[in-house]
Amino acid sequence: MTFTDIFDTDVVGRWAAPGRVNLIGEHTDYNDGFVLPLAIDRQTTVTVGRRSDRLLRVASSFEDGVQEASLDALDPAALAGWSAYVHGIAWALGEGARGVPASDLSGAFGLDVFVESDVPVGAGLSSSAALECSVAVAMNDLWELGLDGPALAKIGQRSENDAVGAPTGIMDQSASLLGRVDSAVFLDCRSLDAEVIDLGFAAAGLELLVIDTHVEHAHATGGYVARRASCERGAEALGVSSLRDLGVDDLPRAAEVLDDETFRRVRHVVTENQRVLDTVRTLRLEGPGAIGSLLDASHVSMRDDFEISVPELDLAVATAQATGAVGARMTGGGFGGAAIALVPTDLREAVSAAVVRAFADAGFTAPTLFVVHAAEGARRTA
Ligand code: ADP
Ligand code: MG
Repeated sequence: MTFTDIFDTDVVGRWAAPGRVNLIGEHTDYNDGFVLPLAIDRQTTVTVGRRSDRLLRVASSFEDGVQEASLDALDPAALAGWSAYVHGIAWALGEGARGVPASDLSGAFGLDVFVESDVPVGAGLSSSAALECSVAVAMNDLWELGLDGPALAKIGQRSENDAVGAPTGIMDQSASLLGRVDSAVFLDCRSLDAEVIDLGFAAAGLELLVIDTHVEHAHATGGYVARRASCERGAEALGVSSLRDLGVDDLPRAAEVLDDETFRRVRHVVTENQRVLDTVRTLRLEGPGAIGSLLDASHVSMRDDFEISVPELDLAVATAQATGAVGARMTGGGFGGAAIALVPTDLREAVSAAVVRAFADAGFTAPTLFVVHAAEGARRTA
């Protein structure tokens, strides 16, 4: 299926935005903390036609049918299904976001949008941000709105929070918009300052292996919402506006004030923030071969303190570690999705085979394994 099978307007351009892998810094974004994601060489592409009316008509290679909404009647409460990720961007542009002025869309023309992607959905690689950001850069260019990457990231988050209804942070959109080849994006989720950090994986003979467990996660519901609530409860009990304001030195006091479960949630966030800072410093001073123990510790913290891992993720991580990975951890929001392992290139096949065998022995669904490279962020491609 192509654009011209569905739409009869002329194509005016193509825009692409990558998915992302979070190298380290999990569940820290909504606590105003630090994250270190990278944009990956898996992306969503939108092919866009210019309409003479004010309709936004959208289709995806993932699903049959065309979803339609008018620029004059974008009601976030009425947006539903996958097309809310597209229509929601137009709505959010018209509304503005924290620190981003509302754009005047009264003169904007309608669009036909065809979506294609090789970012696996629901694997923790943020197919949602890839979709949002490809649409956001396309609309920004075509409607000449003049917003920069950080502003578009906030628009994407606003759309995902208030139009799609998923209470996610700003990390995914920032990675997808600001990523660079062979680099990670070090993001301070409070100031939203972003810094591009050299990874140097290839030069060190390392590769980042993604292990998709195919266990489904549900961001908008259940565990994610409960973890956010625990973090808010912990911050309030400790008298800070967010857990970002606590350091590892504050943990003994937190242990006295909080119940055991809330304390462990808080300890994950506080130590994870420190691990992100340590990873950035280690990358600069010693290179990627030295970050393994930080990745490993992050997994233990998510498994035991934050309790967002599942047996499949634990097995993937343990097997990779046992067969030569420099470090490994689950990545993404948890309750399924993918793990990452930083592996020497010459051990990639052995690690992959061991993981596949371990899953078979455990009676788990066969995982999908693939290598990702840090790639360029959202941009016009044609
Ligand atoms: P992920 O971890 O992949 O971001 P999410 O649940 O946040 O998982 O987002 C996945 C949702 O994004 C899908 O259920 C779908 O609604 C939408 N989506 C992502 N990519 C596409 C696509 N290529 N076509 C249509 N919808 C998509
Ligand atoms: Mg997502």
